[in-house]
Amino acid sequence: MSIKPAAFIGALLASALAGAAPAPVTVINGATIIHPSKNGAAAVEEGTTIVIAGDKIQLAGRGITLELPQGAKIIDGRGKFVIPGLVDSHVHFFQSGNLYTRPDAADFNAVVPYAQEVARNKARLDATFKIWLANGVTGVADVGGPFWNYDVRDRAVATAAAPRMVVAGPLISMIADPPLDLDDPPIIRIGSPEEARALAERELKRNPDFIKVWFIHQEGDDLAKQEAIVKAAGDAAHAAGKRLAVHATELLVAKAALRAGADILVHSVFDEPVDDEFIALLKERHALYCPTLFVWTSYELVLSGQWKATPEEERSADPEILAAMDVNKVPADKRPERVAKFIAERKPIEPPKVAMANLKRVQDAGIPVVMGTDAGNIGTLHGPSIYREMRLMAESGLTPLEVLRSATWNAAKTMGLEGKTGEVQEGMLADLVILDADPLADVMNLSHVYRTIKGGVVYDPKELLESIR
Ligand SMILES: [Zn+2]
Repeated sequence: MSIKPAAFIGALLASALAGAAPAPVTVINGATIIHPSKNGAAAVEEGTTIVIAGDKIQLAGRGITLELPQGAKIIDGRGKFVIPGLVDSHVHFFQSGNLYTRPDAADFNAVVPYAQEVARNKARLDATFKIWLANGVTGVADVGGPFWNYDVRDRAVATAAAPRMVVAGPLISMIADPPLDLDDPPIIRIGSPEEARALAERELKRNPDFIKVWFIHQEGDDLAKQEAIVKAAGDAAHAAGKRLAVHATELLVAKAALRAGADILVHSVFDEPVDDEFIALLKERHALYCPTLFVWTSYELVLSGQWKATPEEERSADPEILAAMDVNKVPADKRPERVAKFIAERKPIEPPKVAMANLKRVQDAGIPVVMGTDAGNIGTLHGPSIYREMRLMAESGLTPLEVLRSATWNAAKTMGLEGKTGEVQEGMLADLVILDADPLADVMNLSHVYRTIKGGVVYDPKELLESIR
């Protein structure tokens, strides 16, 4: 690779001529770059120099020699690994991951009223943003919540120490979910294509990145009628240049979602093995597939008292949330009936084997898989739950490089940032993670974050986490 420092000097000169203050420069020396868009030996580039000026990568590669501008920050990258910033393609900021965050699944209103829980989540946003950065995550997709989700995106844009964010607003849903109905419900029941269009229009005024459908198909429901509702939502989204995200966890329903125009399936197919027709529909739609493997078991793990924080969670989850995970500490008379039953049974909880086999099949078919946790749901914590998810992806048979690709190169598509993020190369946004260990040797090495860089600004995870305690 031949890289010309002249391009870099030229960029600095251009900013000087334009009368702007020269952009701050950071240089990472000697690190191994992992290129998630490449395969084999090409994915690993040792002994590199990375030059960041302002929010962009100016140069990245081997054999770069340049005279450093005054005030440049130098990071010794020897023995370290640089990857693009990670993206979680499925999160929810109105939920915290703790016991009290989904009263529709487990009603703990007697312990913490739901309104208080949601108010806490809103007030805690800046800390939650920092937790994401501390875990190497520089981009998140909030795929559905109250209308104030759009304010969360505004806040993230206005906050330096926050990941980039794309959002959907309230879910266009087949069913109501009254326990979550505060004054601004995250889930709205829609009964016809006309109603779907009307809600999509209300959302489009807020410039969503996605219109989201909660495609719940129960026995006795008319699938064709439901598909027409999803299609109406999708058509409205597409007419406005927006994408359609669909929750559809059964094969039959996921196929209907794709026929209706889904651009991203925000979950795995969990109920039965996927087939050729499903793969063909994904290909035809150029759809993204977000597995969310861990969340499938996380509710039951917590509600049966079997959830334990991982070392990564102990280190880098929100301490306020870690303190509110233990169902055994809830007085017996305040436990919902369902929870009492879970605790009494304490059934061993297996990972979702069907979904894991489906992930491997979808990956091998060349479908773009995007890593996503569904963080915010009970037991799936903002930030470090990515490591639980990526471990399960590896256990499904994906290579560490494929897992990394799903959280970077492929995920740039979720973010609408194709060509701008997802690789470590000249001209891309400087969203990077410096790791202390090789992520291709073991996906868990992705948790060894030495520094996170977002938009050219360098963050020390320890300092981020200290600042929220
Ligand atoms: Zn979700």
